[in-house]
Amino acid sequence: MSRQVRTKGGELMAKPLKNSIGMFYHCGNCLEQRPEGVSPREWLRAEFGPTPKGFQLWCVRCEMSIVSFNLLGQKIKIINDEDEGGD
Ligand SMILES: [Zn+2]
Repeated sequence: MSRQVRTKGGELMAKPLKNSIGMFYHCGNCLEQRPEGVSPREWLRAEFGPTPKGFQLWCVRCEMSIVSFNLLGQKIKIINDEDEGGD
């Protein structure tokens, strides 16, 4: 199955991955201080990236870890727009 889509101009391009996240992580401290009328998405200030053992989500505002994942030595594959079954 192809993950390509045709543009209005007729060109084939990689079908962009959709957002398949089922649950979002947020900093509890920041959520408590979130101004009224500002969504958690707008308020979040975080960095995400690899660590020696997995991945970590870091709150930039609080300078503390929100969540850290240890992959227990599992191999991972980064899914990009050109891959099949990215979602
Ligand atoms: Zn925070």
